[in-house]
Amino acid sequence: MIAFLSGGTGTPKLLRGMRLHRKDRDLAVVVNTAEDIWISGNHLSPDVDTVIYLFAGLLDTDTWWGIRGDTLVTHDLIRARGGDEFIRIGDRDRAIHVLRGEALRRGERLTTITASLSRTLGVEARVLPMADTAVTTLIDTGGTLLHFQEYWVRHRGTVPIRELVRSYREEPVATPEVLAALREAEAVVIGPSNPVTSIAPILECRGVPEALRDQYVVAVSPFIGDRPVSGPAAALMQAFGREPTSAGTAALYGDLVDCFIQDTRDPVQVEGAVRCDTLMVDEKASGALAGEVLQILERQR
Ligand code: GDP
Repeated sequence: MIAFLSGGTGTPKLLRGMRLHRKDRDLAVVVNTAEDIWISGNHLSPDVDTVIYLFAGLLDTDTWWGIRGDTLVTHDLIRARGGDEFIRIGDRDRAIHVLRGEALRRGERLTTITASLSRTLGVEARVLPMADTAVTTLIDTGGTLLHFQEYWVRHRGTVPIRELVRSYREEPVATPEVLAALREAEAVVIGPSNPVTSIAPILECRGVPEALRDQYVVAVSPFIGDRPVSGPAAALMQAFGREPTSAGTAALYGDLVDCFIQDTRDPVQVEGAVRCDTLMVDEKASGALAGEVLQILERQR
């Protein structure tokens, strides 16, 4: 089994390719939950949902969130009646958020809820939220603290960032299921997800760095030059005190990573890095990159 650390876009693209080589049941995915948010009374776990929908064959792979062909009847009605639902939530997608919210209110663990949602959707991969307690990435825009989703979805990333804040009541601890998966895996792959908002929250969970130190870890850079392939990673890396490049990403992961992969086009040189075509423009390109990762793991053995 191979374990992945994942956000909701870059790593899922790599997982799409890995499915061409390995059976879903041979994959475990530790997923970031620091972008989770309650909306209209329900609980969104955007990265968890993307990963579940990918394995269930439901994901809208044009946007990398939500369910393909979903309708917006409820969302449109809420907006028309004056509701402030700033994220476009599809009707089928919302059903998952309703079930998750209800289960959380009953006191169930996010891990258990995710496993049961996975089962009902026929997902065979192990999809594991990084922690069961709430952790939230907030953006300090200079006095005002915005939830990451407010920053990125409502304001489209146009507000200035003074600081990035990770907010929680209880210090985040990796779940026993996460630690078991990281321990049992033949290797761990940190996909090309946003280092600051997707991967760092997982690395900050107590127990994860120690588990990774005992593992062979491959990481794929989400940067080419000083730009991410998509999304707000550059501004967020700077707010996090890191250079918005592959070098900054490699420095952030430090000695947890044994093999760092950067794009063949990347003008930034990371010492000792392996060069691959990391642009996963379609399933075939995802499959090719996943194949290269597997070859690296094979050589390591
Ligand atoms: P989020 O949760 O939606 O923010 O998604 P992730 O954190 O999983 O992924 C966002 C990151 O994926 C961005 O920093 C992008 O640069 C990166 N990304 C998206 N597509 C690709 C790709 O095809 N190749 C690489 N190398 N990175 C990608």
